[in-house]
Amino acid sequence: MADIFYNYKNQLYANITNRCDCSCQFCVRTLKDGVGENNYLWLNGEPTLDEIKQEMDKVDFSQYEELVFCGYGEPTCALENLLETAAYAKEKYGMRIRLNTNGLANLYHKRNVIPELAKVIDTVSISLNAATAEKYQEITRPQFENAYPALLEFAELAKKSFKHTQLSIVDVLSKEEIAACQKIADDRGIYLKIRKFS
Ligand code: SF4
Repeated sequence: MADIFYNYKNQLYANITNRCDCSCQFCVRTLKDGVGENNYLWLNGEPTLDEIKQEMDKVDFSQYEELVFCGYGEPTCALENLLETAAYAKEKYGMRIRLNTNGLANLYHKRNVIPELAKVIDTVSISLNAATAEKYQEITRPQFENAYPALLEFAELAKKSFKHTQLSIVDVLSKEEIAACQKIADDRGIYLKIRKFS
């Protein structure tokens, strides 16, 4: 099985699922099988809670302060394992927890899961990806028709629930699109991170 926990640019990541409810045009999974030193992040099936904990117990946490749930899939698709393992990392290893997400968990699970996430996650980074619903559908190709408004609602709820919430875009967007995304974030009082495309 591929590593569930991996180091990338001196940060510790948890790759707990390869499931995702989007099919983004730019997804790294369509370009290569891993990132950095981890050249294979395709899991051999969905790891169980026990398997994730066993792998976590092998990690040397001394060099990290934060555990980031990210990886080759959308972590909230594996919600129960995400909640349980985030709590485990927090309680046993005193880690701060960050979730990188597409912000569609409430649509995927057909309920508001933010209160559950907020109990164990400190920081949430939500991929905004586009300034309009039309462009979002084109770029991310989600399973849902109403994904973009759901993402914005998720971000607004997240802002009220997590210690730190940010929206993120990649700098491949045009200046006009970046400005429009900035306004979307500013209107909601949420920090916008503009990531370099790599
Ligand atoms: S949401 Fe993330 S994992 Fe899913 S397709 Fe998009 S970039 Fe890939």
